[in-house]
Amino acid sequence: MKGARTTGYRGRLAPSPTGLLHLGHARTFWIAAQRAAQHHGALVLRNEDLDPQRCREKCAQAMLEDLRWLGITWSEGPDCGGPYAPYSQSERRDCYLAAWRKLRDSGFIYPCTCSRKDLAEAATAPHDSDDEPIYPGRCRSRSFEDAVRFARPAGVNWRFRVPENETVEFTDLHLGPQQFLAGRDFGDFVVWRRDDVPAYQLAVVADDTAMRISEVVRGADLLKSTARQILLYRALGLNIPEFYHCDLLRDENGARLAKRHDALSIRRLRESGLGPEEIRSRLFTITPQE
Ligand SMILES: [Zn+2]
Repeated sequence: MKGARTTGYRGRLAPSPTGLLHLGHARTFWIAAQRAAQHHGALVLRNEDLDPQRCREKCAQAMLEDLRWLGITWSEGPDCGGPYAPYSQSERRDCYLAAWRKLRDSGFIYPCTCSRKDLAEAATAPHDSDDEPIYPGRCRSRSFEDAVRFARPAGVNWRFRVPENETVEFTDLHLGPQQFLAGRDFGDFVVWRRDDVPAYQLAVVADDTAMRISEVVRGADLLKSTARQILLYRALGLNIPEFYHCDLLRDENGARLAKRHDALSIRRLRESGLGPEEIRSRLFTITPQE
């Protein structure tokens, strides 16, 4: 397509339409937009509406509108198109299936038939409350032949076999050097769910590659996910983008802002009479904590 940038800085905004946009998201998206502008780069908006159980079309519309109202603009997205369309994950299944097939054929993933009950009983390893528990490894030894007989991913969970005790390192552009130990900080993670929904980890790697993203700006809550994704980039033989993880905002009780903090949603603040500039100034007056 004419005018499409194939080199240089390409950043992205990747909101998930599971609720209202709150100050914490807005802060991350504002930083992403600033970084793209500083680099004279392109900014892509990708609607991360993978999960049909949790995503609402109504929320997607509201998010885009709130972002625009706040003064954030993008040059490619579900509303304006672009050279790497479609920009909604729910329309990009083929892209994820291709990645799944490649991982299956190269032996990096295996079908896991553990029930939710099996996993709950085995979950003794400590894990973050908002992170997936460390998989105890019951199905890890399933053979390559067992994996390739699946023509389609549906019906079982597909897990990535992490290289145990290998340190995954990267230098974050904001937070500096990062280190995670595969098998201890995270276990064999799901890349495709039993209910036939591709997992976040797989989808973002496939999308960021397909959309030629050069720098990923997102919240520091995703640092460990970045380590998992680096393993996926390597397994798929793909170039790894740069990462810039933003500090997280917390509410007055020290809890991380979440979509349930309705009072801190951009929508409610707007309705209370605040203007975009007042909200933008709040993004940086609340002290981020980790
Ligand atoms: Zn299993």
